[in-house]
Amino acid sequence: MSAQQALQSPTEYFSHYGKQHTFHHQILDYIKHIDDKSDMVSMKKFGETYQGRPLNLIFVSSVENIRNLEDIRITNIYNSGVNTIKPANINEKAIVWCSFGVHGNEAGTTETVPNFIYQLISGKDVRTNEWLKNTIVIIDPSLNPDGYDRYVHYLKSVSGVNENPTLSHRERMEPWPSGRYNHYMFDMNRDWAWQTQKESKERIMIYNQWLPHIHADFHEMGANANYYFAPAAEPYHKFMSSFQKDFQVEIGKNHASYFDKNGWLYWTREVFDLFYPSYGDTYPTYSGAIGMTYEQAGNSSSGRTIQLENGDTLTIQEKIEHNTVVALSTVEISSKNADKIISNFKNYYSESIKNPNGKYKTYVLKSSPSMQRLTELFDRSGIQYGFATTNSKSTAYHYQSKSSKSFDVQAGDMIIQASQPRSVLLQVLMEEEPTLTDSLTYDITSWALPFAYGIDCYAYTAAFKTDTSKTKPTVSKSDPESTNLFSIQVPWNDLNSVKVLADLHKKDYKVRMSIKESSYQGKVIPKGTLMVNRGDNKRKKDFEKDINIILSKHNINDYVQHTSGFSDKGGDLGGNYFQLIKAPKVLTFSGRGISANSCGEIWYYFDELLDYQINIVEWDQFDRADLSAFNTIILPDGYYKINDERFKTLVEWTNKGGRLIVIEGALRNFSGKEGLTFETFATEDEKKAAEEEKLKQELKDRFNDFEGLERRSISKGTGGAIIKNVVDDSHPLGYGLGKSYYSLKTSSSTYVTQKGMWNVIHIPSKYDSYGFLGSGIKKKLENAVSFAVQAYGNGQAIYMVDNPLFRSFWDKGLLLFSNAVYLNGVLPENY
Ligand SMILES: [Zn+2]
Repeated sequence: MSAQQALQSPTEYFSHYGKQHTFHHQILDYIKHIDDKSDMVSMKKFGETYQGRPLNLIFVSSVENIRNLEDIRITNIYNSGVNTIKPANINEKAIVWCSFGVHGNEAGTTETVPNFIYQLISGKDVRTNEWLKNTIVIIDPSLNPDGYDRYVHYLKSVSGVNENPTLSHRERMEPWPSGRYNHYMFDMNRDWAWQTQKESKERIMIYNQWLPHIHADFHEMGANANYYFAPAAEPYHKFMSSFQKDFQVEIGKNHASYFDKNGWLYWTREVFDLFYPSYGDTYPTYSGAIGMTYEQAGNSSSGRTIQLENGDTLTIQEKIEHNTVVALSTVEISSKNADKIISNFKNYYSESIKNPNGKYKTYVLKSSPSMQRLTELFDRSGIQYGFATTNSKSTAYHYQSKSSKSFDVQAGDMIIQASQPRSVLLQVLMEEEPTLTDSLTYDITSWALPFAYGIDCYAYTAAFKTDTSKTKPTVSKSDPESTNLFSIQVPWNDLNSVKVLADLHKKDYKVRMSIKESSYQGKVIPKGTLMVNRGDNKRKKDFEKDINIILSKHNINDYVQHTSGFSDKGGDLGGNYFQLIKAPKVLTFSGRGISANSCGEIWYYFDELLDYQINIVEWDQFDRADLSAFNTIILPDGYYKINDERFKTLVEWTNKGGRLIVIEGALRNFSGKEGLTFETFATEDEKKAAEEEKLKQELKDRFNDFEGLERRSISKGTGGAIIKNVVDDSHPLGYGLGKSYYSLKTSSSTYVTQKGMWNVIHIPSKYDSYGFLGSGIKKKLENAVSFAVQAYGNGQAIYMVDNPLFRSFWDKGLLLFSNAVYLNGVLPENY
C-alpha cells in the first residue's frame, strides 16, 4: 500500500465529522496525519495562545513547491521591496492565505479545514494538482483556538444523542463569554492592525514574512443569511488599487458559478465594507493583498443543526460543503490568474515607493515616552522609520493644532518617509481624517496613531530630508549618586510609569505623588510626579537596588535622584504636597449583561499590562463578594441593571473611601439616584427642551420613507470618532495628559458637564473632531463631559463616558485609566 493510499479522509478519520464539532487538538491530529502521509503538506508552528494551544500554519502545494517554500517566500518579499537583496533562486508563485475562525464560535470554519486540505491533496479532484503547480496555499486552521475550544466544549457538553434543531434549545444559546473572543475576551478581528493580543502579535509577524497575494477570512453569521462572499460593500478606502477592487469581482463571480450550479443562495456587496484597518480583510488589503471576508450562515446560534425560516435545516455538513467550495474556488481563480496577481502585487509595492498615496510625504513624530511601543507596532508591520541625528528648524503641518507651524526637529525625533514598501498601511494608520465614500460603515471611522499615542506630529506635503539613524540615540544616565540618597523622582507620563508604580506596590514599597509643583536644587517636580522616599521605606534593605531594577526593566531613564527633602520653592518632600498612593485592591465584574470586551480589557490591563492582581466576580454573585476587601471597584461597560440594594451597597462603600470607576454603558444606572449621580441633563429646563426637540423630530419623521431608515439611524450618532477634549491637568485625573486629550468616542451617549463634581475632561463649545459624527450628535457634544470625578464622603466615583481601554489600542487612554485607578490615594480628604 502506498503512502497516498493510506491517507484517510476526514469522514474515515472522524466518525462524527459533519455531525458534531471537533476539538482543536483533534483537528491538529488529523492535519498531522495528512502531513505524515503527504509531501504536499507542511505544518509549521508559529506561536501559542494564552491558554497554551499551538498556533499553526499549514502549507499546501505541489511536492516541488513545498520543497522550495523558503525560495518562494524570499522571492515574494524581494518583490515587495521589503527585502532588497536579490535571492539566489527566484521562484514566483501565487500565494493564497486562508484564515479560519478568528471568531471561535463560528466553528464551521475551522471544521472545514480537514476537508479543504483533503480535497486539495487527495487527487479526488483532478484539477487541484494543476492549480498547486503555480500556487501556494497557506492555511491558518484556527486563529482563535481558545475561543474555538470554549465553544466546542460547551456545545458537546449539552449535545444529546438526538439532534434538536428547534430554536429554543440550549445548544443554540451559548453562555457568557462566547467563543467569539480569545482568552482575554478580545475580538481579534478588530486587532489585526494594533496586535494587542499575543495571538495577533505572533500571527502578524509571520504574515508579514509572507505577504500573501490573496487573503480570505472565513466567518459565520446569522443562520438564515445564506452565504456572503466578495466583492465587498462600499465604502472602500480610497487607497485601494483598481486591481484590488476589480479582482474581488472576478473572485466573486467564480464562487457564484459553483453556487449557481448547486442552487445555493448567496449575496455580495451589501454589508461588509473595507475601511477600518484592523480587520482580516482590510489589514491584508492595505498590505497589498486582495483581502476578503467570507461568511457562511450559522455561528453558535445554529448548534449542530438549526431550523431555518424556509423550513429547511442547516447542518455542520452543509457549512463544510459551502466553505470547501469557496476555498477551492479561491485557489482555482488565483492559480488561473497567477501571473496577473504577481505582477499587480509587484506593481502595488513599487508604486508605494515611487508614488505613495496620501497627502503627506514625511512625518516627524516628536520624541515621546510612548514611542517605544509605537516602534514595536511599526516593526511588526514592517513600517520603516528613522530617528533624527541632528537638530534643525523646520515648518510643517501640525496635527494637534491643525495648522502649519514652525518647530524644532530634535535629535531623537522619529522621521517617517511615506515612500517605502509599507506606505499604504503607514498612510492609513497615520491619516487624520480617513475619507469615507459612504457613512454607512461598520466600525470606528478615525484612528490616527499620533492621537492614539498622544505624540506631537508634523507632516510635510513634500518629502523632508534630514540625517537619520535606525536606532534612537540613548540618553546615558549618570551613575546614581549613592551617597545619602533621600528620594527618587519618577515622571508620570506613560504606561511605563504606571508599570513602575505597580511593581513597587507589589514589593510593598510606599510611593507618593506630588499634587502641586515644587522645585529642589533647581530641579522642578511637576504635579503628578511619583516620589519614592527612603524615609517611607526604611524597612527596605535594598532600596536603591530594587528601584533601579524596576526602573531599568521599564526603560525609565529620566528619573531624578534627590539628596535632600528641603525645597527651593513649593513644598518639602515630607509635607502635604506629596500624598501617599494607596496600592489598589481591585474588583470588577463579569457575566451576562456585562460587555465581555470591556471586562476583558480591564482584566488584560491589570493582568497582562501591569502584571498586577485583579479580582473578578460574576455579577450574579455580587452579594458573595466582600467589598470591604477592596478599595477600587470597576463597573465595566454593558447593559446590566444595578438594582436598588446593590446600588445602595456601592454608594455606602464609596462613602467609606472606595474609588468607583464607572465605564460607558454602566453610567445609565446613575441617573436620578441618591448619593452617586450622573445626569444626561443639567436642569429640568434642559431636559424639557430636549424632550420638545425630540417630539418635533418625531412629528417630522412621520413623513420619512422606509428606505432611508438605516441612513437616518446612523446620522443620530457615531460609530466611533476622535474628539479633542480640554483637560484640567491640575486635577489628578488629568495628570500626565497635557492640556488636551483626544478621546475615541465609540458610543452615541452624551452627558452635560455635571454639577457638584470635577468635569476634568470635557468637550469645549468649539471642538475639533475626526471621523464621522452624525448631524444629530454634533451639537449635543458641545460642552459635554467625557470624564468626571465626584467626591463622595471619603471616596469618589470616576465617570467615564468614553471607554479609554477600548480594544486596548488607544495608548494615551491607558494612562488616563491609570489616573483613575491610582488617584484616590493622592487626594487629600474632602478634595
Ligand atoms: Zn466572524
